[in-house]
Amino acid sequence: MRKLMVAIYLLLGVVMTGVAFAQSPSQPSAITAIKAGRLIDPETGTVAINQTVLIQGERITAVGSNLAIPAGATVIDLSKLTVLPGLVDAHTHMALTYKEQPENNYYYLTVVMDSTALRAIQAASNGIQLLNSGFTVIRDVGNNGLYADTALRQAIEQGWLPGPTVIPSGIIIGGTGGQLWPTPEMYKRHNIVYPEYLDANTPDEIIRAVRENMLFGARTIKLCIDCKPWGYSVDDIKLAIGEAAKGGCKVEGHVQTPEGAQRAIDAGIYIIGHGNALTPEHHRQMAEKGIFLAGTDTPFTKYRGSEQAFRQTVAKLRDAWEKKVPLTFSTDFDYWNDRMKDDKTGEWLSRGDLTIAFIETWKAANIPPADILRAMTINGYRAADIIKERGPIKTGMFADMIAVTGDPLTDIDALRNVQFVMKNGMVFKKDGLMTPEKFFHPGPVRMPSGRWTR
Ligand SMILES: [Zn+2]
Repeated sequence: MRKLMVAIYLLLGVVMTGVAFAQSPSQPSAITAIKAGRLIDPETGTVAINQTVLIQGERITAVGSNLAIPAGATVIDLSKLTVLPGLVDAHTHMALTYKEQPENNYYYLTVVMDSTALRAIQAASNGIQLLNSGFTVIRDVGNNGLYADTALRQAIEQGWLPGPTVIPSGIIIGGTGGQLWPTPEMYKRHNIVYPEYLDANTPDEIIRAVRENMLFGARTIKLCIDCKPWGYSVDDIKLAIGEAAKGGCKVEGHVQTPEGAQRAIDAGIYIIGHGNALTPEHHRQMAEKGIFLAGTDTPFTKYRGSEQAFRQTVAKLRDAWEKKVPLTFSTDFDYWNDRMKDDKTGEWLSRGDLTIAFIETWKAANIPPADILRAMTINGYRAADIIKERGPIKTGMFADMIAVTGDPLTDIDALRNVQFVMKNGMVFKKDGLMTPEKFFHPGPVRMPSGRWTR
């Protein structure tokens, strides 16, 4: 027996070492030069004219107006376009699509009827559609079955398929029952609505739940602050924040009551998800503490929402902007119905079209385009906690960028017409058409390096 254990340990050691040391194969060091007619810095809301961006492999190596283009470089002429960082949806759900048919928009039934494997494939398709609309980063915060979200992140990072950079939360952590109200049968047999929520009622359970998610590849942690009357206390939330920090993760709180919002703010949470329950006083405190808001500000459309709910959403978003809360662009997208078609053409709207449509709420709140753009880029990169390596079009950063006709600093609707998308230095879309073939490989071309092996 002891010999067997030793053999297993040795084998594990070999496997783990193999994973930890597997570095990315040397990236092609081909140089690309992008000629940008206009280059936006969303941080300052300014534009530079006739800029060149040099890219080697996956990263930006130089940006400027009089750069010499190295011999042999591939030149991409975007001189008639406006180039800017890729967009961020700071709160979405890639592997959940609840429907009017067959489940009557009843999320419990979606969980029963759609397997994690099917949902992971939905997520892969959603990722491609979002990238096509210029979203190069998403925070995917739960309701993804048994870790379809972390699998999506891994698949995109390893180079199996194109998609945004995914910051997944793993399974949402909540007091018993999570966000659902399971029957005793569902709860005690623990095999129907689970694994959508991780029950964590005590300090030990909270620590365990945070660790489990990080072990399985989460890059952020999502807590149900007040999904049940028992909810989480300030101390519970602080405990989760401290444990998550050990794995390099920030915490988002799902908030649906004013009391829950106050507890999340008092605990010093990083992001509050959903703006409905927030008061002007909460906004004031969030601005003071620098707490991000992922308001999930749904527009009123023929396929979603009501006029009354929209009016309230707009008023809350406007107040948060006036109080200078760090705002992110966020959608909470996780549904589908057969009214999601273009009025003029009758064609299906893509997941990207449906996501960018959320700018309607921001326009209705009279938020200036430069501030909307900052929410959709810089604040999103900060909320995703990746701004040190992705976002700003600056030397040393990953080469993620998009280009549009028109000027989003004066007309935010220009973002609806993305002509060009680059991710990790590779061209995904050009002249308005997807050209993703270089993203597809018969095997993983990038393996994890650094402290994370998963
Ligand atoms: Zn959500």
